[in-house]
Amino acid sequence: MNISIIGTGYVGLVTGTCLSEFGMNVTCMDVDEIKIENLRRGILPIYEPGLLPLVEKNYRSGRLKFTTNLQETVESANTIFIAVGTPPRKDGSADLQYVLVAARSIAEHMNEYKVIVNKSTVPVGTGKQVKEVIQAVLDCRGLDIDFDVVSNPEFLREGAAVRDFMHPDRIVIGSESERAKEIMKSIYNVLYLIDTPFVFTSVETAELIKYASNAFLATKITFINEIANLCDKIGADVHHISKAMGLDERIGKYFLHPGPGYGGSCFPKDTKALVNIGQAFDVPMSLVQSVVSANENQKSYMIRKMERSLENLSGKVIGILGLAFKPETDDMREAPSITIIQELLKRGAIVKVYDPIAMDNARRFAFEQYKGTKNAEWDGSMDDTEIVYCENEYEALIGTDALVLITEWNEFRSLDLLKIKASMRGNHFFDLRNVYERSEVEPLGFVYEGVGR
Ligand code: NAD
Repeated sequence: MNISIIGTGYVGLVTGTCLSEFGMNVTCMDVDEIKIENLRRGILPIYEPGLLPLVEKNYRSGRLKFTTNLQETVESANTIFIAVGTPPRKDGSADLQYVLVAARSIAEHMNEYKVIVNKSTVPVGTGKQVKEVIQAVLDCRGLDIDFDVVSNPEFLREGAAVRDFMHPDRIVIGSESERAKEIMKSIYNVLYLIDTPFVFTSVETAELIKYASNAFLATKITFINEIANLCDKIGADVHHISKAMGLDERIGKYFLHPGPGYGGSCFPKDTKALVNIGQAFDVPMSLVQSVVSANENQKSYMIRKMERSLENLSGKVIGILGLAFKPETDDMREAPSITIIQELLKRGAIVKVYDPIAMDNARRFAFEQYKGTKNAEWDGSMDDTEIVYCENEYEALIGTDALVLITEWNEFRSLDLLKIKASMRGNHFFDLRNVYERSEVEPLGFVYEGVGR
């Protein structure tokens, strides 16, 4: 089985690597030459636990190749996955330009029957559009080549991507063609053999399954966040509520952990895209629309909490632990830390930050408009155009009025709080992930605030 992947980002690289681990010959293609060159040298573009050894092993065995050559990518494979980005446009709709460019490129080099698999998250109707684009190019080339377009959305979570790909909860395959269905079945045969549930459906349904799933999870998070905010006011404990709710099998225990709002490359863009799809079909997605705005409110609620406790943020030194949108990833896309830090700076606070893995991405993509100052160069004063980047969690908290824990990396779960307290100027501890217990933190002299407890 020869497979090609167009787009070697999070999804493309994990998909390609895992399929090569399943024994297939896989060519991963990307337009980013540096990314491909680095991959050939064993340098990954992302931080993803467990991925590097698999890339190295399969690359060495010759089953996994990296290229920028489109012709070779298309001609060498009978199945081609499209795994390019679908970023949000200003109006919230998914920008399909990369998907459609990929489709056109496939058609320009198509030489025999191929299955084209949409793995990118795409709005309903994209499969049909991809088919039309390919057909139009083939017509122009005067070729009569059969092909099928399949929707196979990806549900992996960053930080657990390899595990999720190898042990998925389900595989969704949207296809109108029996021939394509059989080919998809044989690609995923390893998963079939370990009893992974398969959902075979239409292309349109498969496309919507992805958005429905992500919007539902985002709704669950947002729901518990609002309950947590209510708990803050009435003195209830949201963790007891989550636990009791989660014990109800109809509800389930996952995604009931409150925090500063969901982020990442998927939930924010997919919820907005679903609202946009609803508009396109004149079916209001009012619940999802509320989720989108409630999630924005959640981030500003975190700032209001800090403002209320610290009275005035101007001139206050705030130490931030964790920048990535969640632990075990260096992905900064739509991380709540971005909004929180921008708002702190706007209010005149001085912000010191540390993240175990995401510092580079934060500097380059999230906070590129700010001057980055190393802690050693920081003279105690600063304006709202600067962020102090620190070497570790302890350095980030020296001289601060408040500690704000935004991402629950494991290394932040057992901090030496006595050492931290002694190095701080103030004593406020905002635990936006409820990692610590008030009862263990307050006796050390902190004024502790979690989310909803
Ligand atoms: P990404 O930005 O990490 O990677 C996309 C890659 O595509 C980039 O390397 C880019 O250079 C490449 N590319 C763009 N145009 C190309 C072209 N014409 N030819 C070849 N390469 C091209 O994106 P991602 O996070 O992997 O997401 C890809 C898709 O998968 C999106 O639709 C996303 O919503 C979906 N998805 C992402 C995740 C996730 O956790 N990241 C999970 C499930 C689904």
